[in-house]
Amino acid sequence: MSKRDYYEILELTRNASDAELKKAYRRLAMKYHPDRNPEDQKAEERFKEAKEAYEVLCDPRKRAAYDQFGHAGANAGGFGAGGGFGAGAGFGDIFGDIFGDIFGGGAGRGGTGRAQRGADLRYNLELSLEDAVFGTTVKIRVPTFVVCTGCGGSGARKGSQPSRCGTCGGHGQVRMQQGFFSIQQTCPHCRGTGTVLDDPCPACRGGGRVQEQKVLSVKVPPGVDSGDRIRLSGEGEAGEAGGPPGDLYVQIRVRPHPIFSREGNDLACDVPISFVAAALGGELEVPTLDGRVALKIPAETQSGRLFRLRGKGVTPVRGGPAGDLLARVIVETPVNLTTRQEELLREFEGQVREGGTRHSPRESTWLDGVKKFFENMRL
Ligand SMILES: [Zn+2]
Ligand SMILES: [Zn+2]
Repeated sequence: MSKRDYYEILELTRNASDAELKKAYRRLAMKYHPDRNPEDQKAEERFKEAKEAYEVLCDPRKRAAYDQFGHAGANAGGFGAGGGFGAGAGFGDIFGDIFGDIFGGGAGRGGTGRAQRGADLRYNLELSLEDAVFGTTVKIRVPTFVVCTGCGGSGARKGSQPSRCGTCGGHGQVRMQQGFFSIQQTCPHCRGTGTVLDDPCPACRGGGRVQEQKVLSVKVPPGVDSGDRIRLSGEGEAGEAGGPPGDLYVQIRVRPHPIFSREGNDLACDVPISFVAAALGGELEVPTLDGRVALKIPAETQSGRLFRLRGKGVTPVRGGPAGDLLARVIVETPVNLTTRQEELLREFEGQVREGGTRHSPRESTWLDGVKKFFENMRL
């Protein structure tokens, strides 16, 4: 079934404001609310459609993903990740650590039946900065519960059916008389499910699911950063007794890089240069994530000066222009000097002193500051 465009559903244009969005949703929700349209299938569908559209578009991240990638983007947890799986030969095997976190797992919506939605899983994926910036596909191994093939998830041995619990008569609840009070309790025999397995499936011992390791191919879109999350819908744990599966959330963490640090969409790095190069100027080679670029620095460049290389940063995952590379020049003091080199430096220092010209732009201002500081101290 092809989905309708969210904006079309809400009868809005693509540049609708948040207020317009809210207003449109409220109007449609009032019009199609099931309470107002009892047993009207069409109205219920319209209501659900509007709700879904609103939930995506009122979240700025999901809306941006939807604007860019359509329904695939919105369903990928707001990242336009389009969680792709399937055969992915030739990819590096990177196995991170796994946490079987239960987010909103547990009981599915309503009902005292046996079917329960499977738990959501979180997978912590560590990436190099290069992989995060350029995107990659990684195979992850996830220990998870999958539907038992022996019984198809029902928990009953092949050919048999779960039968109604005799203790509660299938209600899942029993009444207990305690003094004057009658207390309703979850049936201890069937634990509230209302059914019992006379002949449980031997493969899953009646649970309807078995633990297994599954290998998934996760497509990481270019531009992700630490804290981003990719949702793989339906790849969490299998539900109990035929319930729907949970989702798998891949949580991204980017490892520190030996050269670059990331600040938003910009990359920053230090570039050490000799004091001679700093004084005379010249061309430097500056590393970028995909090779080297030449950077001309002017004569009399001071230590700590920042040079901005436009567009050499990160292209953000949610679209927009690439950031910049900020190269910070660090002037190095020479070490391991020979006697001759020391002589040359002394000679140079002598020359500089005799010349009478100012060669250290910050020194005199600094000295003035120090003088003032001591004067103020004496007061
Ligand atoms: Zn089974
Ligand atoms: Zn029972």
